[in-house]
Amino acid sequence: MSQLRLNPLTGRWVTVAAERASRPGELISRQLPVEADPSRKCPFCPGNEEATPPALETYGPGGTWLVRVVPNLFPAFEGNEPLRVQNLGPVFTQASASGVHEVLVFSPEHTHTWADLDDKHAGLAMAAIRDRMEDHARRTTVRYTQAIVNAGREAGASLEHPHGQLLGIPFVPGEIAEEEAGFRRFGESCLLCTMAEAERQADHRVVIDDEKVLVVCPYWSGAPYEMLVLPRTHEVHLESTAPADVVAVGRAIRDALALLRSKVGDTAYNLVFHTAPHHHDGPFHWHVHIVPRLTSLAGFEQGTGVMINIVAPELATRHLTG
Ligand SMILES: [Zn+2]
Ligand SMILES: [Zn+2]
Ligand SMILES: [Zn+2]
Repeated sequence: MSQLRLNPLTGRWVTVAAERASRPGELISRQLPVEADPSRKCPFCPGNEEATPPALETYGPGGTWLVRVVPNLFPAFEGNEPLRVQNLGPVFTQASASGVHEVLVFSPEHTHTWADLDDKHAGLAMAAIRDRMEDHARRTTVRYTQAIVNAGREAGASLEHPHGQLLGIPFVPGEIAEEEAGFRRFGESCLLCTMAEAERQADHRVVIDDEKVLVVCPYWSGAPYEMLVLPRTHEVHLESTAPADVVAVGRAIRDALALLRSKVGDTAYNLVFHTAPHHHDGPFHWHVHIVPRLTSLAGFEQGTGVMINIVAPELATRHLTG
C-alpha cells in the first residue's frame, strides 16, 4: 500500500509507492529501451487481455475493442479511505494514498500512438477519459483526477504499447492549486479564454485553429515545442463538457502530435490533462499540455523551478506549421 508523506519545505505531498521497484537493478533496467524483454507478451495487445485485471470499460464495435480502461496492476493510489493526516512528531506527516489508478489502452495496435488515431478513434479515447473522470467525481474521497499519456522512455513510459493513465487522488495537488491561483489573480474574466483570444490576434504562435479548439506554442513555453490545447468553449471540468467539444480536443491532440512527429521527429512527450478539482467550481478552464521531452531538466530547473527554453515558441510554431 502506498503512503503519502508531506515535504514540509514545499508543502507538497510525495507518494511513496514501495512495491513498484524494490531492487536497485530494477531501477537501472528502467533506463533501457521500452521493449526490454521481447520474451514477455505485451499485456495490452488484443488476445492478452487476461494479463490485466478485468476491464472497467471498453469502447468499440461489438466483440472487439478500440479503447480499453483497466485497473493498474501496481496502483500508486488505491482504496476508499478519506485523507486522514497523521502527525508523527513535528516534521513527519503522513496519510494513506487512497484513490484510483487506471490504465487507458487507447489503441489495440502495438505500434500506434495518439498521432495515428483516426478521427473517430481519437474521439473515443477522449470519451473514455471523460467517462472515467465522471466516475471519479462521484467518489467522495477522490478530489482530483490527473489524466496523462507518457510516450517514450524519456517521458517515463515503461511499456511501448500506447496507453495513458488516470490517477484519482485524495487531495488537490500543488500544480493545480497554483493554476487555480493564477485564474483567481487574473480576476473577473477567464484567463484562458483571454489567452486564446490574445494568441489568435498575435497569430505567430498559433499551430492549429479550428472552430472548437486552439493549439498554440504558448508565449510562456518552458520547453522546446511545448504546446497548449485550448477548448474554445469555456468549461471548468473536462467531464461536464459537451461530447462534441471533448471529441474535438482528441482530434486536435492527434493533429498536433502528427505535426510534432513530421517536423521535429519521433520524440518522447507527455500529455497532461488539466481540469478543475472535482468539487471546485472554478475559476478554471480545462486544457491539455503537450510537453515534448527533447531536453532534460538540469540542476538549475530542479533548484529553482525556473525553466530555460532554448527554442522560442515563435520559432517552434514556424517549424511546426512551415
Ligand atoms: Zn502491445
Ligand atoms: Zn475560459
Ligand atoms: Zn495546466
